[in-house]
Amino acid sequence: MTTNSNKTTNVPPNLAALLQQAHEYALDYINSIQDRPVYPNASDIAKLGQFDEPLPERSCEPSELLAALHGIGSPATVAQTGGRYFGFVNGGVQPAALGAKWLADAWDQNPALYVMSPTVSQLEQVCERWLIELFDLPDNTALGLVGGSSISILCGVAAARNELLRRQDWDVNANGLFGAPEIRVVVGEQAHATVFKALSLLGLGKERVELVPADEQGRMLARALPVLDDRSLVITQAGNVNSGAFDPFDEICESAKSANAWVHVDGAFGLWAGGSSSKSHLYTGASKADSWSVDAHKTLNAPYDCGIILCRHRDTLVSAMQATASYIQWSENRDGMLFTPDMSRRARAVELWATLKSLGKNGIATLVEQLCDRAQEFAEKLRLKGFRILNDVVFNQVLVACDHPQLTSATLENIQKSGECWCGGTMWQEQPVIRISVCSWQTTTKDVERTVNTFVESRIRAQAALSKQDAE
Ligand SMILES: *Cc1c(COP(=O)(O)O)cnc(C)c1O
Repeated sequence: MTTNSNKTTNVPPNLAALLQQAHEYALDYINSIQDRPVYPNASDIAKLGQFDEPLPERSCEPSELLAALHGIGSPATVAQTGGRYFGFVNGGVQPAALGAKWLADAWDQNPALYVMSPTVSQLEQVCERWLIELFDLPDNTALGLVGGSSISILCGVAAARNELLRRQDWDVNANGLFGAPEIRVVVGEQAHATVFKALSLLGLGKERVELVPADEQGRMLARALPVLDDRSLVITQAGNVNSGAFDPFDEICESAKSANAWVHVDGAFGLWAGGSSSKSHLYTGASKADSWSVDAHKTLNAPYDCGIILCRHRDTLVSAMQATASYIQWSENRDGMLFTPDMSRRARAVELWATLKSLGKNGIATLVEQLCDRAQEFAEKLRLKGFRILNDVVFNQVLVACDHPQLTSATLENIQKSGECWCGGTMWQEQPVIRISVCSWQTTTKDVERTVNTFVESRIRAQAALSKQDAE
């Protein structure tokens, strides 16, 4: 299957030219990512209006629309694959994964069933085995690949709900929640918004929970855990979305285990701590849980979108995700749709496999440690410049404040407008803060220094504007 310029080709000439064109644009994009504004400027955003036309009557040359995508779309993207994007908890793209994704795009496989794609089924199985090893999980743990942690949390909570009700002789798949016995949901008060979304989608109620107080870092207080029983689901967190703090899994899982309660770990970006020996103290005890959700598109820097559900109780997950029809052809091999809410979906295993294989265990550890080291550098350098660091920087998250809330907010506004870098904001202990999330393998110490300079300049300008306002 090697290509040879003299060989006859079955590639339609326009497709070959199109892929070549896309390839050139992609390289052009990647080549300019470090020099362009991290957040697009207003004039490039205004040009997006050119997309806003009525549904065309006539067809358009693919080469023309690609040119429009690159000419109008590329400049108005957010440069999150460069080294100075620190918004939300996103993540860059590993080269191996991007290359693999391009090939998989040509395959266009649907991994719902083995008979639809033996290749992707095999890769999913390999990813399952590798992640079981990386996270030190029981051999029979099941893996499902979904869009992100929002859905993988949904899967974990659905499996827990079904199991806790099954123990009370209630078949929730058949009978729903009408007249069902009660189960308990125990959640840390700083659980992520998507946890509450999963609870509401699954009929468990986002307000009908037992909230466990958190300490000043946002960790669930193990001593404040209510007495658990075998009707309880406890949802814990590996990586608080603001502070990066980890719940005390060992204590929580021990209490839960002796009560036969179910523990889910929302480890969207933090579960990867389990892949680094220097960060594994944060992960201690997490492998005793019953289900785990984690994103490959965050810390691991696989492309969007790639969420992962892992469940110790294989049959329970399969039963919670069940769907069948007479036309479905099950196999002796892995049928991916057994483990996800979706039937058709993207071949995410290709990128996940490529990312894991290209990094290897050592590379995963190095990546995690590199992100954490950059976060430490931020904390040290910003402190030296008179910023306040409000969290213990245990992972990749840094919460930054100026001397007073007004100055923090005005500084953040200038940072966001600078084009030099991009950070989001949040409320932390009832104060506005600037939130740095180091998520890209591309971020270097130089990027940290350049960003710290932007923080300093943004604060100077904010200060000047505020004093002028006071004077007026
Ligand atoms: C990002 C995140 C989620 C949601 O994940 P998506 O992949 O965006 O759906 C859930 N929990 C935590 C802690 C997160 O950081």
